[in-house]
Amino acid sequence: RDLGEHAALVDRLSRALGPELPMLARDGGFVARGYSPDLDELRTLRDASRKLIAGLQARYARETGIVSLKVRHNNVLGYFIEVSAANAPKMPADGEHFIHRQTLASAVRYTTVELGELETRITSAGDKALALELELFDDLVGEVTGRATEVGRAADAMARIDVVAGLAELAVLRDYCRPVVDDSLAFRIDGGRHPVVEAALAAGTAGAGETAGAFVPNDCDLAPEQRLWLLTGPNMAGKSTFLRQNALIAVLAQTGSFVPARSAHIGVVDRVFSRVGAADDLARGRSTFMVEMVETAAILNQASVRSLVILDEIGRGTATYDGLSIAWAVVEHLHEAARCRALFATHYHELTALAARLDALVCHSMRVKEWKDQVVFLHEVAPGAADRSYGIHVARLAGLPHAVLERAQEVLRTLESGEASGALTRLADDLPLFAAARPAAADVVPAPARPPALEALEQVDPDALSPREALELVYRLRELLRQEGDR
Ligand code: ATP
Repeated sequence: RDLGEHAALVDRLSRALGPELPMLARDGGFVARGYSPDLDELRTLRDASRKLIAGLQARYARETGIVSLKVRHNNVLGYFIEVSAANAPKMPADGEHFIHRQTLASAVRYTTVELGELETRITSAGDKALALELELFDDLVGEVTGRATEVGRAADAMARIDVVAGLAELAVLRDYCRPVVDDSLAFRIDGGRHPVVEAALAAGTAGAGETAGAFVPNDCDLAPEQRLWLLTGPNMAGKSTFLRQNALIAVLAQTGSFVPARSAHIGVVDRVFSRVGAADDLARGRSTFMVEMVETAAILNQASVRSLVILDEIGRGTATYDGLSIAWAVVEHLHEAARCRALFATHYHELTALAARLDALVCHSMRVKEWKDQVVFLHEVAPGAADRSYGIHVARLAGLPHAVLERAQEVLRTLESGEASGALTRLADDLPLFAAARPAAADVVPAPARPPALEALEQVDPDALSPREALELVYRLRELLRQEGDR
């Protein structure tokens, strides 16, 4: 309905405007032929006169016998007749028919009464045509602005149709489903997918190395009795992807779009809060961890029962125990105070112990398979907690030097054996990685003595030197340097 009826305007505009429109109206030439008989007549006159000029040139060439005679135009003289300097003597010297205008080194220029009249006709026809065009243009502008409200409404409706048609096309092409959105507190997604990662994998541009393949759909159910999911699992297993895909599905569903899932039932979400990835705001005096905390504070202060919160690796930006303590307290707060639906991804496996105490908290993890010393990421979310993070495995995939990886394995084994504090001291005492680079005590070379030239320079007070003394100092320093070189 908002598109409205614009046939009369469309018809008038399409009759009025030519196929190629200039940048600026003031140059003219935009009104189509056939729209205004007056304009067409002026244009014909202008163009016919131009043809007459071509005819004049031929006639003058014939009359004077100068084949190279030309009728030209410039902004200073307007139209003029030009012959080369060599041909100028052949021009009739009566000064009546051909009136001399200008002599240049290589050419002589003339005009005639006839040419002057023709020029007046051309310019006045051109000026009149342009004035008429601008008048017609004002008319058109008036008509369009008179209908501005209707045109604006139609543009708005077109924009909405464009968005909806785009979403509909996506839904068909990418196999999206129609979500159920209601007033409940449900959040049940079956076979959910991340629209962008899925498309990137399909296009082969995901850059996921050995893990590239088809996107693996995952379910998510944040029903009130299990509204807080604690997601553990290896690096690169797909935790962040899972968090974001669910938030995106909620946003898409509430904008009225179909969603990338087999089925989706979403109780209206009042706000989606996300805390993902490392960002900083150094220019405004906020470090990475500070930004993380500021954002987390905003979430904890504002999230309601109706909100959807995704938190990715809270507490990673500080010391392990600090981070773990903050993450722990945040989980408790989300569960007890905010009581919102939330997905919480973490590498602090210690947090899974909270599941025993917080009844709406459930643990999920990303499945992996270990195969011949390799880890295969299955990208599947399954109930239960992960036991390891496989960080060193990912570090190997990323190309960390072999010696660093070996040493990291060793440190990990020692730390995992439990006796952390004593073990750390031992590790610090024993740095095999740098052993080769560390010089033996006997090889340590004493720091070299300072060169005498420097010593001498240091003893001088530059402000107290006369020019002559300064010159002498330069000679003395040169001498000291020479002696040093000889030694
Ligand atoms: P980290 O702990 O290192 O941040 P992560 O567990 O959050 O890792 P993601 O960043 O989500 O892992 O995913 C890593 C890569 O795995 C993605 O870039 C994507 O290519 C691939 N991936 C993630 N989820 C899936 C999936 N469901 N199906 C197929 N590939 C996936």
